[in-house]
Amino acid sequence: INIPDHLLQRFQLLEDRMSVNQHYLTALLGYKFVSLCSFFIPGNRAIVVDEPGVTRDRLYGRSFWGDNEFMVIDTGGVLTVSKSQTDVMEQQLSVSTTIGMEGIPLASREAAVARMPSMIERQATVAVEESSVIIFVVDGQAGLNAADVEIGDWLRKNYSNKSIILAVNKCESPRKGIMQASEFWSLGFTPLPISAVSGTGTGELLDLVCAGLGKIEESDAQNKEEENYIPSISIVGRPNVGKSSILNALVGEDRTIVSPVSGTTRDAIDTEFEGPDGQKFRLIDTAGIRKRAAVASSGSTTEALSVNRAFRAIRRSDVVALVVEALACITEQDYKIAERIEREGKGCLIVVNKWDTIPNKNQQTTLHYEEDVRLKLRILNWAPIVYSTAITGNSVDKIIVAASAVEKERSRRLSTATLNQVVHEALAFKSPPRTRGGKRGRLYYCTQAAIRPPTFVFFVNDAKLFPETYRRYMEKQLRSDAGFTGTPIRLLWRSRR
Ligand code: GDP
Repeated sequence: INIPDHLLQRFQLLEDRMSVNQHYLTALLGYKFVSLCSFFIPGNRAIVVDEPGVTRDRLYGRSFWGDNEFMVIDTGGVLTVSKSQTDVMEQQLSVSTTIGMEGIPLASREAAVARMPSMIERQATVAVEESSVIIFVVDGQAGLNAADVEIGDWLRKNYSNKSIILAVNKCESPRKGIMQASEFWSLGFTPLPISAVSGTGTGELLDLVCAGLGKIEESDAQNKEEENYIPSISIVGRPNVGKSSILNALVGEDRTIVSPVSGTTRDAIDTEFEGPDGQKFRLIDTAGIRKRAAVASSGSTTEALSVNRAFRAIRRSDVVALVVEALACITEQDYKIAERIEREGKGCLIVVNKWDTIPNKNQQTTLHYEEDVRLKLRILNWAPIVYSTAITGNSVDKIIVAASAVEKERSRRLSTATLNQVVHEALAFKSPPRTRGGKRGRLYYCTQAAIRPPTFVFFVNDAKLFPETYRRYMEKQLRSDAGFTGTPIRLLWRSRR
């Protein structure tokens, strides 16, 4: 198999240097496509054709892509692939043979297929276990088959903690490839059309591999951090809306009686406390607002002071409880604070305090009130609303429960499969608009790059082909299908050449 020079130049191989620390990448299940493996492992090492039935050791090859260095493991199932003309059925059977199941009668395709996962497990689990990224290769020309479904199930059930990339091979034509690949969505992974022979999509595949490796590093680091992570919550809002009252109810009366160390401002004093579900929080104190406000001479200075103070608190927070006064509803100042919360990517809940002062409440009151809040505070349309009466102290638990939920949403990671399913459905329902020149935005894949706030990267042909309206549509779909209540989310659109 000839690998085009330009592809070969894109990555090199160092066979003789190995370290225990490197990432492992499995080209396992690349059973039909020796060509794919040979792309990863130049030098024809993977193309050795053994006698069928001979179990081979796993092949390791060192590979580079961009700044990433990784190890490719070829589990040996590849030898069947060299016969590209063989029909699917025969391929499946010979794969079975390859991985040591020659006992299965060749005539019984069903039986062979039915037992695929167990065969795979026996032979290849070791490779999969030691891998960080798994490339699940299917045949785009032959289409989806029962074995694919079983392997897909097996991978999903057992290895959801690893990055799994579904490569649909033999998609030589990019346009037709998308059609060929679309059939494989039902496997629950995002199908990436590639052609090992022509090199189509292999760059994207390697990018995905690297993204998968990056995610693992990131999550390792995060797990370490996670152990010590205590989210910070701040209670902000205009003077007199009831922040101190809420704070008192949260951490007890003593809390605000304790005077700050002289010469320091109150916002330097944080308190740790535990919510009803045992979740720990660090409370950022902004209660000093009133004190400052009393000192301030004019009303406008008071407002300005409190906004600045709120801004400082927001910066240090993970979750912000924006307290508004029921009768006043949303004011311009609240809007300014809301904008800042959104811009800084903080979680938020809107606390409508002094709910007791709203007269003649009935079943509809909350509904109408919520409509009003949503209208005036569109920028926080994702934030939950909690109605509270701080002086009685009994709504405070609700605030903490809501804050805790918001924090969880802000730290949530969507599986790539779910994410791409949602995004794919959104795309199918409404495609990006065509430009006057007839061009249309195309999405290659989507991945969640970060949490706090959840950040999604959309790799597309040209970001300019996705107008603001379309981006908002996508965000709306993501939210309606995947939640993220109480947290801003970020959608980044990256053009690919
Ligand atoms: P802050 O300036 O935002 O900290 O507001 P405070 O907590 O000091 O409250 C201002 C005033 O509103 C105080 O007189 C509180 O007793 C009163 N207040 C606070 N929460 C409520 C509430 O839920 N209902 C009613 N009716 N009054 C409240």
